[in-house]
Amino acid sequence: MNSSIDLHCHTTASDGSLEPADLVRRAAERGVETLAITDHDTLEGFRQALPVAEELGLKLVSGIELSCVWGGITIHIVGLNMDVDSPVMKEAEAFQNKARAERSELIAKRVGKKLQQTIDLDAVRGYAGSDAIGRPHFARYLVDQGWVPSMQTAFTKYLGAGKPGDVKTSWPEMDQVVRWITEAGGVAVMAHAHLYKMTRTKLRACMSDFIDAGGRGLEVAYGMMDNNQRGQMAQLARDMELMGSCGSDFHGPNRFGLDLGVMPAFPKDVPPVWSVWS
Ligand code: AMP
Ligand code: MN
Ligand code: MN
Ligand code: MN
Repeated sequence: MNSSIDLHCHTTASDGSLEPADLVRRAAERGVETLAITDHDTLEGFRQALPVAEELGLKLVSGIELSCVWGGITIHIVGLNMDVDSPVMKEAEAFQNKARAERSELIAKRVGKKLQQTIDLDAVRGYAGSDAIGRPHFARYLVDQGWVPSMQTAFTKYLGAGKPGDVKTSWPEMDQVVRWITEAGGVAVMAHAHLYKMTRTKLRACMSDFIDAGGRGLEVAYGMMDNNQRGQMAQLARDMELMGSCGSDFHGPNRFGLDLGVMPAFPKDVPPVWSVWS
C-alpha cells in the first residue's frame, strides 16, 4: 500500500540511483507528504534536497542510516530529526567517512585475493564519485569487469554477509551511533530488524542494549516485509515500548514493486515516531 510518510530511502549521496532533487520530486508526485532521506553515513542527500522540498511544500525530516556493529553483527541505525549542524553530527559524518575509506581498502584487498584479480580501487571510487563508498559500488565494478554476471552474484559470492568483502572492522559500536543521534537531538530507530539473522533471544538482547543507549524507535512498516515479519516487529515494539517508524528503503526505480511510500500498513497500536516532532 501507499503511505504519505516515508522515513527511509537513499539517493546518489550513498547507494541510491536518484539525485536528491529528483527523489524529492518523485516523492511529491507519489503523494508522500513527510519524507526522510536516510543515506548511508552521510547527510549530504538531505542537505541537497532541502531547498527542493521547501519549494514543493513537502516536509523533509533530516535523516541518516548509520552502520555499526553489535556482537559482531553489522546493524543499521536510522537517525531522524537531528540538528544537522550540531558538532556531534559533524563528528559522526567524519568518523563514518573515514571508516568507509579504510574499509574500502580492505574490501579491495580481500575480494581481489578471492577473485585472484587486482581491484583498481580508484575505479571503484569513481563509481561512488564524491559519495559514501560502499559494497554496491564494488558490485557494479565487478559486473563491469565481467568477473560476475550480476550485482546479486557479486553479493552472494564476494560481498554479502560472511563473504570476504563483508568487512565490519571499521564500524563503531551500536551504542556509539545511538548516542551521536540522540545528542544531536534526534530519534534513533533500529532499521529493518526483521532482516538480521538473529534468534529471537539475541534480537531482544540487541534491542535491550539499543534502548539502554538511548534508542527509541523500530521500523514496523518497511518496503520489503511480509505479514509475518510485520507482526513480529509490531509485537517487538509493543513489548519493548518502542515507537514505530516506517519507510520503503527505496534505492531507485529499478527494484521491481518497490517505490517511495510503498510499504505495509502501519500497525495501529504502536505509537508513531513522528509524534515526537509533529
Ligand atoms: P555497505 O553500506 O557498503 O555495507 O553496503 C550495504 C548496502 O548494499 C545495503 O544498504 C544495500 O543497499 C546493498 N545490498 C546489500 N545486500 C545486497 C544484495 N544482496 N544485492 C544488492 N544490494 C545489496
Ligand atoms: Mn543501501
Ligand atoms: Mn540498511
Ligand atoms: Mn537503507
